[in-house]
Amino acid sequence: MKVVVVGGGIAGLSAAHRLAESGRPGLEVTLLERSGRFGGTIRTVERDGCLVELGPDSFLTSKPWLSDLAGRLGVADRIIPTARTHRRSHVVHRGKLHPLPDGFLMMAPTRFWPMVATSLFSWKGKARCALDLVLPRGTGTGDESLGAFVRRRFGGEVLERVVQPLIGGIYAGDPDTLSLKATIPRFFEMEQRHRSVIKAMVAQRRAAARQQRGTAGSGARYGELASFDRGMEIIVQALLRQLPSDAMHTRAEVTRLTRAGSGWNLSCGEGRRFDADGVILAVPSRHAAGLLHGTDTDLYEELAAIPHASSAVMNLAYRRSDVPHPLDCFGFVVPAVEDRKIIACTFSSVKFPNRAPEGLVLLRVFLGGMLQQELLQSGDEILLRIVRGELRDLMGIENEPLHSELARYPDAMPQYLVGHGRRVERIESLLGRHLGLALAGNAYGGVGLPDCVRSGEQAAERILGGADPGQFT
Ligand SMILES: Cc1cc2nc3c(=O)[nH]c(=O)nc-3n(C[C@H](O)[C@H](O)[C@H](O)COP(=O)(O)OP(=O)(O)OC[C@H]3O[C@@H](n4cnc5c(N)ncnc54)[C@H](O)[C@@H]3O)c2cc1C
Repeated sequence: MKVVVVGGGIAGLSAAHRLAESGRPGLEVTLLERSGRFGGTIRTVERDGCLVELGPDSFLTSKPWLSDLAGRLGVADRIIPTARTHRRSHVVHRGKLHPLPDGFLMMAPTRFWPMVATSLFSWKGKARCALDLVLPRGTGTGDESLGAFVRRRFGGEVLERVVQPLIGGIYAGDPDTLSLKATIPRFFEMEQRHRSVIKAMVAQRRAAARQQRGTAGSGARYGELASFDRGMEIIVQALLRQLPSDAMHTRAEVTRLTRAGSGWNLSCGEGRRFDADGVILAVPSRHAAGLLHGTDTDLYEELAAIPHASSAVMNLAYRRSDVPHPLDCFGFVVPAVEDRKIIACTFSSVKFPNRAPEGLVLLRVFLGGMLQQELLQSGDEILLRIVRGELRDLMGIENEPLHSELARYPDAMPQYLVGHGRRVERIESLLGRHLGLALAGNAYGGVGLPDCVRSGEQAAERILGGADPGQFT
């Protein structure tokens, strides 16, 4: 049995690894990657002693698929948690960095006094947020946008000042168009089960405290985030070590996919062709759509209808003495209402150890996203000037960085719009028409790295005949 995996990002590598891991006799796996390297969005580089993440910098351990994979690849001991100190976020409010109230996690407060004391929200905003404690649960039928959910439960201030920038940072998206169920379904489930989201989150925090899992902090679930000691590329290298090098091809862009009897035929540039009994398309969904255009118009239309946002990441290294900010948090997010030109900044050398040599600071700034796509038309020099201007205003950094690296991600972040879940169900059912075809990647059941690993592994299972057709569930 010949299987070709198209796309050498984390989803494609995980798919190829699961196929190889199956030990199925006679199974021949080939992986075709368009660019000159494997890893896709994951890219770690070393620059003047700094460990620079050009793409993702961490992953959720509460979603077990990446950690499990690391265990099977023998690199679990290289997983590192985020630093124990400063596990909190700031948010820009009226042009200044402002701490999120301690215990404010993603969408809701879990501690009373920090929420009462904060000047981030007005008294009216705080009172409206507290209404969550008494409001009835929603109907639970149909899909709802994240923005509508937060406005309904906590009010507009919480949405504008905190949830929009936190979610904007993760999904590069607009909460008023993103589906709650498809992005952070646990909030939907909390409301359905406990009615009040605040009560549900307080109960979760107490349970975590009983199990002695760190509960201090604010912003993202930093206690559940991890990386690798030498950066995210460790997982890519570990996967590559397990895969036969003669089966792995870079600079192999698949330009055509056609049915050939009960199998498939794939064409790459320079007249290279591959025959396969099974194909896993682990490429962005719009690329998968393009490849399936001639095979299945319905599938093409569903895949092509998933929009994507573009973003860019700029890493900047500074002397510690050039940064007046105390760096007593993991970074900050910027609400759209603040009308600034960056969407978030992570203090990388605070969040993880050994990211910058003693005396240096590594910052990681996010630009673009659904609400600021046009900014990315600017050239690299202009973007650097914009970022420096913003860091000067917000953090008081006047001097030039020692070095900076810009990485652009055009159309890289799928937008799970309201109705995304239904679309994925339709895609899943359409796939049932095609024996030996599977999809993997970040466009279906989660954008995070663990979700992408799972999607690759599920695609492999489908091809091996295990999980058909419930690929994304
Ligand atoms: C800036 C940024 C920061 C992020 N940060 C985090 C984070 O901290 N934590 C987290 O969990 N997630 C993060 N994410 C999300 C996560 O990184 C991605 O969802 C994930 O890496 C996508 O993996 P993938 O394999 O699906 O796709 P990709 O990594 O995009 O890989 C797809 C591969 O397919 C190849 N390809 C495309 N077309 C073809 C073709 N026709 N033939 C052959 N090859 C082809 C591409 O060259 C590419 O290598 C971030 C995303 C971005 C953009």
